[in-house]
Amino acid sequence: MSDCIFCKIIKGDFNTKFVYEDEKIVAFDDINPQAPVHILFVPKVHIVSLNELEDTSLVKNVYEAIKQVAQKKGINDYRIVLNTGKDAGQEVKHIHFHMLAGRKLNWPPG
Ligand code: 5GP
Ligand code: ZN
Repeated sequence: MSDCIFCKIIKGDFNTKFVYEDEKIVAFDDINPQAPVHILFVPKVHIVSLNELEDTSLVKNVYEAIKQVAQKKGINDYRIVLNTGKDAGQEVKHIHFHMLAGRKLNWPPG
């Protein structure tokens, strides 16, 4: 998708540093971090949200990537957030998983 900011990042248009990459997924720091660690895990294929995801095995790949990054960084306590749709706070219409860590996270979320 040519006007999708995450597709542009994945293509390398902004020289974003990837903290993780494999054939299906990239991960990079959120530009507006909500915690000391705030990493976005983004499938390379342009899919708007979980509602449009047909091959749910991709979710397994994402969680494997998350687990690898957590282990590599020595992070044991973290939260994964998948905002789906406007009311849930999804702003970027390319599916992505937030990894938040490095502080006490409140519950329930807002
Ligand atoms: P959403 O609200 O859609 O779940 O999350 C979108 C996230 O993408 C936000 O946390 C926002 O800060 C982040 N974001 C938006 N544009 C960019 C960008 O150009 N670069 C990076 N690294 N993060 C971005
Ligand atoms: Zn996209």
